[in-house]
Amino acid sequence: MTAQTEGLHHVTAIAGDPQKNIDFYIKGLGLRLVKKTVNFDDPGTYHLYYGDEAGSPGSLLTFFPWQGIRSGKVGTGQSTTTAFSVPQGTLGWWQDHFKAIGVESSIARASSEEERLSLRDPDGLQIDLVASSLTDPRNPWDSASVPAEYAVRGQHSSVLTVEDPTASLETFTRDLGMKILSETDGRYRLSTHDGEPGTVVDLVTDRRGERGLVAGGTVHHIAFRVPDQATQELWRQELAERGYAVTAILDRQYFTSIYFREPGGTLLEIATDTPGFDIDEPLLELGRSLKLPPWLEPNRDAISHAVAKINVPDENNPSIATFLS
Ligand code: ZN
Repeated sequence: MTAQTEGLHHVTAIAGDPQKNIDFYIKGLGLRLVKKTVNFDDPGTYHLYYGDEAGSPGSLLTFFPWQGIRSGKVGTGQSTTTAFSVPQGTLGWWQDHFKAIGVESSIARASSEEERLSLRDPDGLQIDLVASSLTDPRNPWDSASVPAEYAVRGQHSSVLTVEDPTASLETFTRDLGMKILSETDGRYRLSTHDGEPGTVVDLVTDRRGERGLVAGGTVHHIAFRVPDQATQELWRQELAERGYAVTAILDRQYFTSIYFREPGGTLLEIATDTPGFDIDEPLLELGRSLKLPPWLEPNRDAISHAVAKINVPDENNPSIATFLS
Protein backbone atom coordinates (compact mmCIF):
# COMPACT_ATOMS: atom_id res chain seq x y z
CA MET A 1 0.00 0.00 0.00
CA THR A 2 2.60 2.51 1.24
CA ALA A 3 -0.04 4.60 2.82
CA GLN A 4 0.70 7.68 4.82
CA THR A 5 0.23 8.20 8.50
CA GLU A 6 -1.65 11.29 9.64
CA GLY A 7 1.41 12.59 11.49
CA LEU A 8 2.75 12.30 15.02
CA HIS A 9 0.53 10.67 17.66
CA HIS A 10 2.67 10.87 20.79
CA VAL A 11 6.18 10.78 22.20
CA THR A 12 7.01 8.65 25.24
CA ALA A 13 9.99 9.52 27.44
CA ILE A 14 11.52 8.41 30.73
CA ALA A 15 11.53 10.57 33.85
CA GLY A 16 12.64 10.27 37.47
CA ASP A 17 10.51 11.89 40.14
CA PRO A 18 6.83 11.91 39.05
CA GLN A 19 5.89 15.01 41.07
CA LYS A 20 8.61 17.14 39.46
CA ASN A 21 7.44 15.85 36.09
CA ILE A 22 3.81 16.78 36.79
CA ASP A 23 4.68 20.25 38.08
CA PHE A 24 6.92 21.00 35.11
CA TYR A 25 4.54 19.89 32.39
CA ILE A 26 1.38 21.38 33.94
CA LYS A 27 2.76 24.65 35.34
CA GLY A 28 5.81 25.11 33.09
CA LEU A 29 4.76 23.90 29.65
CA GLY A 30 1.05 24.46 30.33
CA LEU A 31 -0.06 21.01 29.18
CA ARG A 32 -2.94 19.10 30.72
CA LEU A 33 -2.44 15.77 32.50
CA VAL A 34 -5.05 13.78 30.58
CA LYS A 35 -4.38 10.39 32.17
CA LYS A 36 -2.87 9.11 35.36
CA THR A 37 -2.43 5.40 34.86
CA VAL A 38 0.34 2.82 35.27
CA ASN A 39 2.84 1.28 32.92
CA PHE A 40 0.85 -1.75 31.69
CA ASP A 41 4.12 -3.71 31.36
CA ASP A 42 5.32 -2.65 34.86
CA PRO A 43 2.22 -1.74 36.92
CA GLY A 44 4.21 -0.58 39.98
CA THR A 45 5.10 2.64 38.12
CA TYR A 46 3.02 5.40 36.64
CA HIS A 47 2.35 6.17 33.04
CA LEU A 48 1.52 9.89 32.83
CA TYR A 49 -0.06 11.35 29.67
CA TYR A 50 0.00 15.09 28.89
CA GLY A 51 -1.68 16.87 26.00
CA ASP A 52 -4.35 19.36 25.08
CA GLU A 53 -7.75 19.47 26.80
CA ALA A 54 -8.89 16.11 25.40
CA GLY A 55 -5.48 14.52 24.85
CA SER A 56 -5.91 14.70 21.08
CA PRO A 57 -3.57 12.56 18.99
CA GLY A 58 -0.66 14.78 17.98
CA SER A 59 -0.73 16.74 21.24
CA LEU A 60 0.58 13.97 23.49
CA LEU A 61 3.78 13.58 25.48
CA THR A 62 3.81 10.65 27.91
CA PHE A 63 6.21 9.56 30.63
CA PHE A 64 7.28 6.49 32.53
CA PRO A 65 8.56 8.06 35.77
CA TRP A 66 10.91 5.68 37.61
CA GLN A 67 12.01 7.25 40.90
CA GLY A 68 15.82 7.13 41.16
CA ILE A 69 16.45 5.91 37.60
CA ARG A 70 19.95 6.68 36.28
CA SER A 71 20.29 9.33 33.60
CA GLY A 72 20.36 8.16 30.01
CA LYS A 73 22.72 9.43 27.36
CA VAL A 74 21.61 11.52 24.42
CA GLY A 75 23.15 10.19 21.23
CA THR A 76 22.57 8.40 17.97
CA GLY A 77 19.82 5.83 17.56
CA GLN A 78 17.17 7.80 19.43
CA SER A 79 14.86 10.77 19.30
CA THR A 80 16.97 13.60 20.72
CA THR A 81 14.55 16.55 20.74
CA THR A 82 10.79 16.79 21.21
CA ALA A 83 9.41 19.97 19.67
CA PHE A 84 6.03 21.58 20.36
CA SER A 85 4.24 24.15 18.23
CA VAL A 86 3.52 27.63 19.66
CA PRO A 87 2.24 30.78 17.91
CA GLN A 88 4.68 33.17 16.22
CA GLY A 89 5.83 36.06 18.35
CA THR A 90 5.43 34.21 21.67
CA LEU A 91 8.97 32.94 22.31
CA GLY A 92 9.95 36.04 24.31
CA TRP A 93 6.97 35.49 26.58
CA TRP A 94 7.93 31.83 26.98
CA GLN A 95 11.52 32.71 27.83
CA ASP A 96 10.33 35.09 30.61
CA HIS A 97 7.84 32.48 31.81
CA PHE A 98 10.53 29.81 32.15
CA LYS A 99 12.97 32.24 33.75
CA ALA A 100 10.37 32.99 36.42
CA ILE A 101 10.29 29.30 37.36
CA GLY A 102 14.07 28.90 37.23
CA VAL A 103 14.38 27.21 33.82
CA GLU A 104 17.04 28.51 31.43
CA SER A 105 16.22 28.63 27.75
CA SER A 106 17.70 30.01 24.54
CA ILE A 107 16.19 31.26 21.29
CA ALA A 108 17.62 30.42 17.86
CA ARG A 109 16.37 31.05 14.34
CA ALA A 110 16.42 27.70 12.56
CA SER A 111 15.36 29.11 9.17
CA SER A 112 13.50 32.07 7.74
CA GLU A 113 10.25 30.27 8.56
CA GLU A 114 11.08 28.95 11.99
CA GLU A 115 12.30 30.11 15.41
CA ARG A 116 13.00 27.79 18.35
CA LEU A 117 13.20 28.15 22.11
CA SER A 118 15.29 25.32 23.59
CA LEU A 119 15.19 24.15 27.19
CA ARG A 120 15.44 21.03 29.32
CA ASP A 121 12.87 19.46 31.62
CA PRO A 122 13.77 18.48 35.25
CA ASP A 123 15.32 15.20 34.02
CA GLY A 124 17.30 16.85 31.23
CA LEU A 125 14.94 15.93 28.38
CA GLN A 126 15.45 18.31 25.44
CA ILE A 127 12.25 20.25 24.69
CA ASP A 128 11.97 22.88 21.93
CA LEU A 129 9.11 25.29 21.34
CA VAL A 130 8.82 26.04 17.64
CA ALA A 131 7.19 29.19 16.28
CA SER A 132 6.58 28.42 12.61
CA SER A 133 5.26 30.62 9.82
CA LEU A 134 3.02 27.70 8.81
CA THR A 135 -0.37 28.11 10.48
CA ASP A 136 -1.37 25.71 13.21
CA PRO A 137 -5.18 25.63 13.50
CA ARG A 138 -5.25 23.34 16.55
CA ASN A 139 -6.96 24.63 19.70
CA PRO A 140 -4.72 24.97 22.77
CA TRP A 141 -5.48 23.93 26.33
CA ASP A 142 -6.35 27.19 28.08
CA SER A 143 -4.74 26.69 31.48
CA ALA A 144 -4.21 29.04 34.41
CA SER A 145 -0.43 28.61 33.96
CA VAL A 146 -0.18 29.51 30.27
CA PRO A 147 -2.89 31.69 28.64
CA ALA A 148 -4.34 30.36 25.38
CA GLU A 149 -2.73 33.07 23.21
CA TYR A 150 0.74 31.68 24.04
CA ALA A 151 -0.12 28.04 24.70
CA VAL A 152 1.27 24.94 23.03
CA ARG A 153 -0.85 23.84 20.03
CA GLY A 154 0.47 20.27 20.00
CA GLN A 155 3.55 18.47 18.76
CA HIS A 156 5.59 20.21 16.11
CA SER A 157 8.24 17.58 15.32
CA SER A 158 10.70 15.04 16.61
CA VAL A 159 14.42 15.14 15.91
CA LEU A 160 15.92 11.67 15.31
CA THR A 161 19.70 11.45 15.38
CA VAL A 162 21.38 8.71 13.34
CA GLU A 163 24.94 7.78 12.48
CA ASP A 164 24.08 7.07 8.85
CA PRO A 165 20.81 8.37 7.38
CA THR A 166 20.65 6.12 4.29
CA ALA A 167 18.60 3.21 5.63
CA SER A 168 16.45 5.41 7.87
CA LEU A 169 15.54 7.62 4.91
CA GLU A 170 14.38 4.52 3.06
CA THR A 171 12.19 3.50 5.97
CA PHE A 172 10.58 6.92 6.34
CA THR A 173 10.05 7.58 2.64
CA ARG A 174 9.47 4.15 1.08
CA ASP A 175 7.78 2.36 4.00
CA LEU A 176 6.08 5.18 5.95
CA GLY A 177 5.20 7.35 2.94
CA MET A 178 6.91 10.51 4.19
CA LYS A 179 8.33 13.18 1.90
CA ILE A 180 11.79 14.77 2.11
CA LEU A 181 11.07 18.51 2.16
CA SER A 182 14.64 19.75 2.49
CA GLU A 183 18.22 18.73 3.28
CA THR A 184 21.02 20.85 4.73
CA ASP A 185 24.33 19.38 5.93
CA GLY A 186 22.91 15.93 6.58
CA ARG A 187 19.80 17.29 8.31
CA TYR A 188 16.69 16.07 6.50
CA ARG A 189 13.22 17.50 7.08
CA LEU A 190 10.64 14.78 6.53
CA SER A 191 6.88 15.18 6.69
CA THR A 192 3.82 13.00 6.30
CA HIS A 193 2.24 16.04 4.62
CA ASP A 194 3.81 19.39 3.71
CA GLY A 195 5.65 20.28 6.88
CA GLU A 196 2.68 21.42 8.94
CA PRO A 197 3.24 21.31 12.72
CA GLY A 198 2.63 17.78 13.99
CA THR A 199 3.68 16.07 10.74
CA VAL A 200 7.45 16.51 10.87
CA VAL A 201 10.50 14.37 11.63
CA ASP A 202 13.92 16.00 11.38
CA LEU A 203 16.47 13.29 10.68
CA VAL A 204 19.91 14.51 11.75
CA THR A 205 23.18 12.83 10.73
CA ASP A 206 25.90 12.61 13.38
CA ARG A 207 28.59 10.34 11.93
CA ARG A 208 30.94 10.62 14.89
CA GLY A 209 28.25 10.72 17.52
CA GLU A 210 28.18 8.22 20.32
CA ARG A 211 25.31 5.82 20.63
CA GLY A 212 22.60 7.07 22.95
CA LEU A 213 21.40 5.20 26.02
CA VAL A 214 17.67 5.21 26.75
CA ALA A 215 17.11 5.91 30.48
CA GLY A 216 16.13 8.99 32.55
CA GLY A 217 15.74 12.18 30.53
CA THR A 218 15.62 10.49 27.11
CA VAL A 219 12.89 9.51 24.65
CA HIS A 220 11.76 5.88 24.68
CA HIS A 221 9.84 5.93 21.39
CA ILE A 222 7.81 8.10 19.05
CA ALA A 223 4.41 7.18 17.64
CA PHE A 224 2.63 7.97 14.39
CA ARG A 225 -1.15 8.21 13.90
CA VAL A 226 -3.56 5.97 12.07
CA PRO A 227 -7.34 6.47 12.30
CA ASP A 228 -8.38 3.02 13.51
CA GLN A 229 -7.44 -0.58 14.17
CA ALA A 230 -8.38 -1.83 10.70
CA THR A 231 -5.85 0.58 9.15
CA GLN A 232 -3.32 -0.38 11.80
CA GLU A 233 -3.68 -4.08 10.91
CA LEU A 234 -2.93 -3.24 7.25
CA TRP A 235 0.19 -1.39 8.36
CA ARG A 236 1.24 -4.32 10.52
CA GLN A 237 0.94 -6.78 7.62
CA GLU A 238 2.77 -4.45 5.24
CA LEU A 239 5.64 -3.81 7.68
CA ALA A 240 5.99 -7.52 8.42
CA GLU A 241 6.11 -8.31 4.68
CA ARG A 242 8.85 -5.71 4.29
CA GLY A 243 10.95 -7.50 6.89
CA TYR A 244 10.40 -5.38 10.00
CA ALA A 245 10.14 -7.18 13.34
CA VAL A 246 6.77 -5.66 14.15
CA THR A 247 4.84 -6.56 17.30
CA ALA A 248 1.28 -7.81 17.52
CA ILE A 249 -1.42 -5.19 18.11
CA LEU A 250 -1.27 -4.25 21.81
CA ASP A 251 -4.21 -2.77 23.74
CA ARG A 252 -3.11 0.48 25.41
CA GLN A 253 -6.69 1.22 26.54
CA TYR A 254 -6.81 4.73 24.99
CA PHE A 255 -5.45 3.50 21.64
CA THR A 256 -3.95 0.32 20.24
CA SER A 257 -0.31 0.05 19.24
CA ILE A 258 2.24 -1.75 17.12
CA TYR A 259 5.98 -1.23 17.52
CA PHE A 260 9.03 -1.71 15.31
CA ARG A 261 12.52 -0.23 15.09
CA GLU A 262 13.77 1.96 12.26
CA PRO A 263 17.25 1.04 10.99
CA GLY A 264 18.90 4.05 12.69
CA GLY A 265 17.89 2.61 16.06
CA THR A 266 14.83 4.58 17.21
CA LEU A 267 11.82 2.59 18.39
CA LEU A 268 8.71 3.61 16.41
CA GLU A 269 5.05 2.96 17.14
CA ILE A 270 1.90 3.26 15.09
CA ALA A 271 -1.07 4.16 17.31
CA THR A 272 -4.78 4.61 16.64
CA ASP A 273 -6.76 7.84 17.09
CA THR A 274 -9.53 5.85 18.78
CA PRO A 275 -10.96 5.31 21.37
CA GLY A 276 -9.33 8.27 23.17
CA PHE A 277 -8.95 9.44 26.76
CA ASP A 278 -12.58 9.95 27.75
CA ILE A 279 -13.23 6.20 27.51
CA ASP A 280 -12.89 5.77 31.31
CA GLU A 281 -13.44 9.24 32.83
CA PRO A 282 -15.31 12.39 31.75
CA LEU A 283 -13.46 15.12 29.83
CA LEU A 284 -13.78 17.54 32.75
CA GLU A 285 -12.11 15.08 35.13
CA LEU A 286 -9.22 13.82 33.01
CA GLY A 287 -6.11 13.11 35.06
CA ARG A 288 -7.85 13.39 38.42
CA SER A 289 -7.87 9.77 39.58
CA LEU A 290 -5.74 6.71 39.02
CA LYS A 291 -7.21 4.81 36.07
CA LEU A 292 -6.46 1.15 35.40
CA PRO A 293 -7.35 -1.07 32.46
CA PRO A 294 -9.91 -3.80 33.23
CA TRP A 295 -7.23 -6.50 33.45
CA LEU A 296 -5.36 -4.62 36.21
CA GLU A 297 -8.45 -3.43 38.12
CA PRO A 298 -8.47 -6.54 40.40
CA ASN A 299 -5.00 -5.44 41.66
CA ARG A 300 -6.00 -1.83 42.37
CA ASP A 301 -5.17 -1.93 46.11
CA ALA A 302 -1.68 -3.34 45.60
CA ILE A 303 -0.99 -0.95 42.70
CA SER A 304 -2.22 2.11 44.64
CA HIS A 305 0.17 1.24 47.45
CA ALA A 306 3.09 0.58 45.10
CA VAL A 307 3.00 3.89 43.21
CA ALA A 308 4.29 7.13 44.75
CA LYS A 309 1.84 9.65 46.21
CA ILE A 310 1.51 12.53 43.77
CA ASN A 311 -0.41 15.78 43.78
CA VAL A 312 -2.04 17.04 40.58
CA PRO A 313 -2.15 20.88 40.65
CA ASP A 314 -5.55 22.62 40.44
CA GLU A 315 -4.54 24.08 37.07
CA ASN A 316 -5.39 20.67 35.61
CA ASN A 317 -9.08 21.14 36.35
CA PRO A 318 -10.88 23.14 33.64
CA SER A 319 -13.42 24.87 35.88
CA ILE A 320 -10.76 25.90 38.43
CA ALA A 321 -8.44 26.96 35.62
CA THR A 322 -11.14 29.29 34.29
CA PHE A 323 -11.85 30.56 37.81
CA LEU A 324 -8.16 31.29 38.52
CA SER A 325 -7.56 33.09 35.21
ZN1 ZN B 1 3.73 4.82 22.81
